[in-house]
Amino acid sequence: MLKLGEIALKGLNRRSFEEVMMKNIKRRLGDAGEFSVTSRQSTIYVEPLDELADMDLAEERCAKVFGAVGYTRAGATKKDLLHIQEKAVEYLREELEDALSFKVECKRSDKKFPYKSPEIAMEVGAYVLERFPHLRVDVHHPDVTVWVEVREENAFVHADAKPGAGGIPVGTGGKGMVLISGGLDSPVAAWTMAKRGLELTAVHFASPPYTSELAHDKVVRLLRKVSKYAGRIKLVTVELTHLQEEIRDHCPEELSTVILRRYMLRAAERVAREEGCQCLITGESLGQVASQTLQAIACTDAVAEMPVFRPLIGSDKAEIVRTARHIDTYDISIEPYEDCCTIFTPKHPRTKPTLEMVERGEAAIDGEALLEEALGSLWTTQISAY
Ligand code: ATP
Ligand code: MG
Repeated sequence: MLKLGEIALKGLNRRSFEEVMMKNIKRRLGDAGEFSVTSRQSTIYVEPLDELADMDLAEERCAKVFGAVGYTRAGATKKDLLHIQEKAVEYLREELEDALSFKVECKRSDKKFPYKSPEIAMEVGAYVLERFPHLRVDVHHPDVTVWVEVREENAFVHADAKPGAGGIPVGTGGKGMVLISGGLDSPVAAWTMAKRGLELTAVHFASPPYTSELAHDKVVRLLRKVSKYAGRIKLVTVELTHLQEEIRDHCPEELSTVILRRYMLRAAERVAREEGCQCLITGESLGQVASQTLQAIACTDAVAEMPVFRPLIGSDKAEIVRTARHIDTYDISIEPYEDCCTIFTPKHPRTKPTLEMVERGEAAIDGEALLEEALGSLWTTQISAY
């Protein structure tokens, strides 16, 4: 059972949000077996259709579906008191055996059920105590809470729900193009925006032979981790070698990073249009490095027409690291491969560039031709965790 989060508040649009979420769940359960996925009363039910279903795998997949505030495995049973009592004891046997204390909580959304919630809780509690005499009831800090939900078609028994992935379903918010490097920040930025319902496409800039195949492979592995939450991601790789060499040879050294970033944003926006994306996403965080001061970001931002989302702009490194660990990208991100941003880096980058200064510096190269050349070399990789 997946409990709907924010989408339960969506009013008239709610049904379409639920439909997308159910489609996302079905796609992810592909290799875990046969399941029915239905929704009733702010809950999505994922029910195995036969004994072959891999419930552990299904649980792992459901835990990463955006749109759910919580999820739990539950035992379904007929709606009569004896069946519910037996199910509670059978379904939560292990938990109850290991516990010292417990309580029963009941939710009754079927108001026609002949017992009220407190009565059900009391009857189930008494039955549990009879079967497990070592237990005592503790309503404040129980080791185990036995949840009984009496719903329309069935009753369900489960332990405490676990926190879900949160957010809103991927695909309900449009399409975003994430600029992905091999670093810590951009995979976290990608995940953060997928959590808000964006379907992701990614663009990565490589500069062979200065950057290697291994650096590209790292990006693919990072996106595969993000894809566990975000679903399928198409990666577009663009080679910026010649453009970077031209910047190095002809533009003022202290502005080269900002100029490169402007070209990255321009290239990304063109790819984004081709791919039907409506926004760009980067992993920038204010003040983190010279190219992420307010002045530098203003110079970079000036070339973009689409909205540029920088979900980490107000995050500290420690917070970003925490999320990277949570989504399991951290260990890959810290692998030491070169990125195109780390080659030809200026010794003293200007931290407070002005737009006029940057535009003048940029005029030394034929940017448009170089951009065309770079975009002529792009290639794509389909990435999916399933
Ligand atoms: P990250 O940890 O994501 O690499 P960073 O702190 O190293 O970020 P920069 O290298 O300045 O910062 O990059 C800022 C942002 O620019 C990245 O978060 C990413 O969105 C984008 N970016 C940087 N390098 C590349 C690249 N090679 N390909 C695509 N996007 C890139
Ligand atoms: Mg980086």
